[in-house]
Amino acid sequence: MSRARREVELAANLAQVEERITRACDAAGRARADVTLIVVTKTYPAEDVRLLAELGVREFAENRDQEASAKAAQCAGLGLIWHFVGQLQTNKARSVAGYADWVHSVDRVRLVTALSAAVVNSSRAPLNCLVQVALEKESGEEGGRGGVAPGGVRELAEAVAAAPGLRLAGVMTVAPLTGVLAGNPRAAFERLMEISRNLRAIDPAATMVSAGMSGDLEAAIAAGATHVRVGSAVLGVRAALG
Ligand SMILES: *Cc1c(COP(=O)(O)O)cnc(C)c1O
Repeated sequence: MSRARREVELAANLAQVEERITRACDAAGRARADVTLIVVTKTYPAEDVRLLAELGVREFAENRDQEASAKAAQCAGLGLIWHFVGQLQTNKARSVAGYADWVHSVDRVRLVTALSAAVVNSSRAPLNCLVQVALEKESGEEGGRGGVAPGGVRELAEAVAAAPGLRLAGVMTVAPLTGVLAGNPRAAFERLMEISRNLRAIDPAATMVSAGMSGDLEAAIAAGATHVRVGSAVLGVRAALG
């Protein structure tokens, strides 16, 4: 596809997502400015990131370090903000701290330690961290998708708050595919909001709630999400293994 045609396609998709977000905000009695759109560009090329930047998108997310670091380097100088949203191995912490401003997938103390060391050993600004909550683990499911059980959020949040170079920003979740909340994203996101309120009782600055993707952003906004992470509705359906 030509660059011009791709730009028209991305612009149309983006306008549709923007309209969905606006309508969901209206329905919830929330201001549009209270919800930030993060576009998830995984599996799509840096050229798409550049086109989206021309269309006004500033916040981008990726879920694999190798792909993310290459894309961030290819788009350096555009003033973009990168979010890391995938499962993260401790040996990739240094790399991620090199380009990401936000890590949404903090789910164990060892990762907190690794990210903290990476920031302290660099000259970068503090790294914003979200505790990823695996809601399915509350009903004893394993899921295997990363995230800490709701019962472990507090301990992990305290570890982030105490770690040099890290800032506790809030919580993140992906609507569970298993457990009692499977198939009910609204209930899942309401549960996340409850966890967020408990966290804010400990640290009032941890206000960010990252929830909602292409299929369920309305439910997330209705519940109170501050950031939605949208991939396929903007870029198109990914080839397998995205
Ligand atoms: C891929 C991904 C998204 C975006 O998913 P879509 O359904 O394509 O909108 C959001 N969050 C995370 C953690 C992802 O890995």
